[in-house]
Amino acid sequence: MTAEKVQLLYEGKAKKLWSVKGSDDLVIQEFKDDATAFNGEKRGSWAHKGEVNNAMSSALFTMLEGKGIRTHFVEQLSKSDMLIKKLQIVPLEVICRNIAAGSFVKRYGAKEGQEFATPTFEFSYKDDSLGDPLINDSHALALGLATQAEIDHIRKTALQVNEILKAFFRERNILLVDFKLEFGRHKGEILLGDEISPDTCRFWDAATRQKLDKDRFRQDLGGVEEAYAEMLKRVTEPV
Ligand code: UDP
Repeated sequence: MTAEKVQLLYEGKAKKLWSVKGSDDLVIQEFKDDATAFNGEKRGSWAHKGEVNNAMSSALFTMLEGKGIRTHFVEQLSKSDMLIKKLQIVPLEVICRNIAAGSFVKRYGAKEGQEFATPTFEFSYKDDSLGDPLINDSHALALGLATQAEIDHIRKTALQVNEILKAFFRERNILLVDFKLEFGRHKGEILLGDEISPDTCRFWDAATRQKLDKDRFRQDLGGVEEAYAEMLKRVTEPV
């Protein structure tokens, strides 16, 4: 399919969103090489980041669709561009965890690397000026961010996505530590949106527990570009 960018609708930290010529239902998300961490306090950029995130997200959305998960993905258009269904984003960051890391360690004093018997699920309120605070269902309802039915659907879908991704990555010798999803409304339906990439997931090599995600940038571990390339290879190469 050919799709022509018309107007820049939104520019975020790592992506741009463009309207599409002749379509009200579709938009193009363009993946940038820029990265931020710690609510925008740390900034950086590295070669092929956008390309890796676009290619990995495209492959994973396609795989998830094949397993019955409804997503916004339409088609990968180029190295940087993905054609997607236009969503009205539900302003919740939906986070699932299988192994303790990041803010879970900081917040609850857990030991990094502790594996959970049951995955955890949490929402953050997507609002940079508030620092994306942790919220629960009743808060989301009180703020009018989503209906109870939408929240129930989002939780169920996110936990399904966790099981599918965990198994997919396990086959590729990767531990899926945790990840963030975003959902949005499209023609009366809730679809999985945004991206699924080393920017939004924590991936550890199953044998060495080497970090292969944005923590290499957050924690100045070096080898960021190589880690992203390795993750794309693991996702796209046949097992
Ligand atoms: N995450 C994200 N965007 C955010 C916050 C978190 O994509 O704004 C992802 C992050 O990459 C990790 C998971 O969600 O895979 C859990 O992140 P956590 O709550 O531990 O926060 P962090 O340590 O990244 O601040």
